[in-house]
Amino acid sequence: MWWRRRLPRMNEQATPPGIAIDPVCGMQVVLADAQHTSEHEGTTYYFCAKGCRLDFEDDPARILSPDYEPHM
Ligand SMILES: [Zn+2]
Repeated sequence: MWWRRRLPRMNEQATPPGIAIDPVCGMQVVLADAQHTSEHEGTTYYFCAKGCRLDFEDDPARILSPDYEPHM
């Protein structure tokens, strides 16, 4: 829907220092504890679990698309 593009993505909102948003499921990941990370086009992404990392690496363009909704 057209109006949804005007809303900020969850991973573009301000997050507390030391916290990253898992782009796959939307969970907050504590960087100090992060065990699942992936680099894509020069950016490091953090994941709550291996499954989320694999989903991301399977198709990063889909996960990073503005149409993608993070979900558990
Ligand atoms: Zn996750």
